[in-house]
Amino acid sequence: MELVVLGSGDTVGVPKIGCSCPTCTIAKEKGIPDARTRFSIMLRDIEAGFNMLIDTSPDMRLQLIREGVERVSAVLYTHHHWDHVLGFNDFYRVQAVITVFGLKETVDYVLDRVGFGNLVKAKRKYIQPFESVKYKSVEFTAFPVYHPHLNDGLNIQPVGYMFRLEGAKLVVTGDTGISIPEESLNLIHEPDVLIADAFISYPKHFLDHHMTVEEAVRLAEQLEARKTILVHLTHANPPHAELQKRVDPTADKIIVGYDTLKLKI
Ligand SMILES: [Zn+2]
Ligand SMILES: [Zn+2]
Ligand SMILES: [Zn+2]
Repeated sequence: MELVVLGSGDTVGVPKIGCSCPTCTIAKEKGIPDARTRFSIMLRDIEAGFNMLIDTSPDMRLQLIREGVERVSAVLYTHHHWDHVLGFNDFYRVQAVITVFGLKETVDYVLDRVGFGNLVKAKRKYIQPFESVKYKSVEFTAFPVYHPHLNDGLNIQPVGYMFRLEGAKLVVTGDTGISIPEESLNLIHEPDVLIADAFISYPKHFLDHHMTVEEAVRLAEQLEARKTILVHLTHANPPHAELQKRVDPTADKIIVGYDTLKLKI
């Protein structure tokens, strides 16, 4: 199985519209790894013709074209925020049916409120937190995280996912602050690969709904992750190479995620 970072950016992407900060300027000049589309991860087994998306970014169309993906087997949703779901409509006239996993409130929100008149038929697969689910060769479990909402009046629980892939343990935190519930922390301990929300890299003073880079690194240490990939990065971080040098110059344990990053699992 191969893991592909389709989108490593935050809600607005990098470069941000109208911004000329050093990170956005480099992103405009050089593209990847400094340019970041909105968050999405893909798990794929090319030989088996299988691939699964974690979230459908507003940039999904370009991400799938970039990676040569013709058909998506299934989607897993972490939560209902628009930077994680809006790409769903890009399945229109691309594939007739798509299998969608997530908590009931999240799946119903995406398909009933975001879906374009139900033109894309979805097989709704409701799952519960801590329930182990098997789909083809992948086994996964959703776990609650801490990601308070933007006064949207909805009370929908965001989740991360723990995967078992041919003996390897992969954890995707999704959007979360550092206050991940204890029961979730127990489930995701000692992952082979941790994909962690790492929004911004200066000391926290206003942020509790995402982790800072420093908090994500601390979480990786606490969980004893063998390898960690930082994602959901904003333009307020230093340019890619500088951030990588700061967190782990060898990129052996902590990798600053970037669009197109691939890892065999
Ligand atoms: Zn997000
Ligand atoms: Zn900027
Ligand atoms: Zn969010």
